[in-house]
Amino acid sequence: MVGIVIVSHSKRLAEGVAELATQMTQGAVNLSIAAGVDDPENPIGTDAVAVMSSIEEVYDDSGVVVLMDLGSALLSAEMAIELLDPEMAEKVKMISAPIVEGAMAASVAAAAGLPVETVISEARSALSAKSDHLGDLPSVASEENDIDSSSFSDVLSFSWVVKNPNGIHARPAAAIVGKIASFSCDVWLEKESETVNAKSLNKIAKLAVRNGDEIRFLAAGDDAAEAIASFEQLANEHFGEADLVKNGVKEKEDEVEVTASNLVDGALTGISVNGGIVSAPVVKFAHVMPAIPDRLPEYITIESANLRNAMSKVEDRLLERSKEDNGDIFDAHLMMLTDPELWDSVLSKLESGLIAEQAWVDSMAELADVYKNSPSEYMREREADVRDIARQVMVELTGDFTATIKLDSPCVLFASDLMPSDVADLDKEFVHAICLEQGGRTSHSAILARAMGIPAVVKVAGCLDAVHDGQVVTLDGFCGMLWLSPSEETIAELDKKRTTWVQQKEIALQKVSKPALTQDGTHISVLANIGGPKDLALAVSNGAEGVGLFRTEFLFQASSTLPTEDEQFEIYKDVAEAFNGNPVTVRTLDVGGDKPLASFPMPKEDNPFLGVRGIRLCLKHKELFISQIRALIRAFNVCPNIQVMLPMISTVAEINEVKNLIRTEAAVLGIDCEAMNVGIMIEVPAAVLNADMLASESDFFSIGTNDLTQYVMAADRGNPELSNLVNYFEPSVIKAIEMTCIAGDKAGIPVSMCGEMAGDVDATELLLKLGLRKFSASASVLPELKEQIRDCELSPLTTQN
Ligand code: PEP
Ligand code: MG
Repeated sequence: MVGIVIVSHSKRLAEGVAELATQMTQGAVNLSIAAGVDDPENPIGTDAVAVMSSIEEVYDDSGVVVLMDLGSALLSAEMAIELLDPEMAEKVKMISAPIVEGAMAASVAAAAGLPVETVISEARSALSAKSDHLGDLPSVASEENDIDSSSFSDVLSFSWVVKNPNGIHARPAAAIVGKIASFSCDVWLEKESETVNAKSLNKIAKLAVRNGDEIRFLAAGDDAAEAIASFEQLANEHFGEADLVKNGVKEKEDEVEVTASNLVDGALTGISVNGGIVSAPVVKFAHVMPAIPDRLPEYITIESANLRNAMSKVEDRLLERSKEDNGDIFDAHLMMLTDPELWDSVLSKLESGLIAEQAWVDSMAELADVYKNSPSEYMREREADVRDIARQVMVELTGDFTATIKLDSPCVLFASDLMPSDVADLDKEFVHAICLEQGGRTSHSAILARAMGIPAVVKVAGCLDAVHDGQVVTLDGFCGMLWLSPSEETIAELDKKRTTWVQQKEIALQKVSKPALTQDGTHISVLANIGGPKDLALAVSNGAEGVGLFRTEFLFQASSTLPTEDEQFEIYKDVAEAFNGNPVTVRTLDVGGDKPLASFPMPKEDNPFLGVRGIRLCLKHKELFISQIRALIRAFNVCPNIQVMLPMISTVAEINEVKNLIRTEAAVLGIDCEAMNVGIMIEVPAAVLNADMLASESDFFSIGTNDLTQYVMAADRGNPELSNLVNYFEPSVIKAIEMTCIAGDKAGIPVSMCGEMAGDVDATELLLKLGLRKFSASASVLPELKEQIRDCELSPLTTQN
């Protein structure tokens, strides 16, 4: 298939064009973008090397068509072609077609398998429909436009009255070209006296077929009868818009902000955050910052005491929440709220005569601006967190609680975005699903929704305007769709899907205590990831066969002082006892860099993800590490099912240093812990590449795909702009997993996985095929994960751990 390359100065522009082209061709286009430059200060520009990579990415013997925007885009594209292998360069064509319309026309033609000449001519005449309509440009492709079907002797035809609410606009036209282009016969579409080539998207668009117009499809040649039958079938399906036709949905810009890019099969689409199908009435929620009262200031001592009082109520709440699942989000909030600089700022405003409410709102607005203007996307996202805290304190200060979410019956909660505190406060009994106009897969509210098991979809453009309170809608969290008025047929399909989902959940729950055996009877270990004793009950009741990852960070982040050796010992022992001899894998402290620790302030780093994190921090600050090592040795002494796991290992020396520390401390304690397993997390490329050597010093491997993906792809896992790269299905990540499994197998040590991928049932079969035999995931997904394993057959070629 002909490849398409879009060269633009603006990444956003190119991404938009690519999104449209992908949608028009239902993902069939072979397209790549080379846009913008990698300079956060000045991202507008083009780069010849990026253009060359894009050409190579989509290269196909049938050719590559390059569309460019302005000035230097041309120079970059020319230079890129010069850099290419001459044989390849010969097949690359730069064309002057308009970038948006040209890309659409070229993509549809290319996706339909048409030759490069047609793709180019389609792109070149892409403006003709628009210019004819507006009459502002001479028509470009006059000689090819009017095809005389009467010169053919055997012309078959089929007539149809168009029922599509928006006529044969771009998408139905793309469906026609996609279906018809592969026939060898000549085909035309006719409206009134105008006849155009039916293999041309632009020409079909030029016909301007509207709802109610009669069209005639004509075909002449060898496979004309088949082409007619195909067209008839497509027409009966309303050219891919059957749902729109049934529901009579008309896309009108002034009615609902439903864009062509997010309306699919009559549903609004967004990004799936958590699976599940829910039909319930809409409840819209909007944040309102309580108003600043119109009053005169009291004495500063009174103003500041009132504000302190409100802040400490929020502090208490945050402290409580920081001990729950995903507590680190609220820890960070706590740090923002208790930042002494913030209080200094408030105080100076109080001293200048402002009332507490005004001083607070102004100080927080200044802080929010700092985040908003940060060059880092991650930091910019934190602006929402600042506003969240600001509002919570204002609610306490003014006593205006009207802006909090109060529900008394089941609903789908709609909001522009939700703040972490809103989600944590949600009553699962009533909030059956969440639909957000904004948000992102990695936003804190999304992480919390997932952890709470609430089906959710985010980034559903136009959803708030499209619904009203009380309207019953259906949210499909599996494919990120929101149905407003589905057809009978769709309702039946959704019901079927929902029934299957509910049944599967029930079946999985009934079988939680049974082992997960693959079809051929191999037992696969399924363990839980926990954050502390509060997660034990669910892990045990959901059938965990031990703990594959105990993130000990929470013990250290839960308070402003470090936990003592004795406190840690008690907790490790309690957790190990709950698993009756099944393995409990305690990961040593994994903080530093991006994960701050209030009780152990660390210097700021330029590259925190590449900085003093995990084991690096512990080995640099032994005073911190030794109390944990001692607590673990003592806990192992009474619970030999405890094993130790080291995060962020990149060298054999790091493992040996920890093992020496363990030996020394065990000798001091007079405990023999030679039998205590010490394993490592495989999270950085260095560990994968040197897995053989690391295996010789490790009792087990556990693959941390969250970090492994970010380091293999060199893409910050917290940056939503890079979500396409932070993808553990990328071949390079899969290869890294496979290499780790092979190295573990060769050394005869078990390999498990405890990153998010282990709990993703879409990855289970692949992971089994790669040789993985131990999965550790969040307790809530274990029943479904076990069921998924039970459906899988191990391929005879897979390795065993
Ligand atoms: C991982 O990186 O996959 C992992 C499990 O560790 P964390 O998410 O705690 O960094
Ligand atoms: Mg990690």
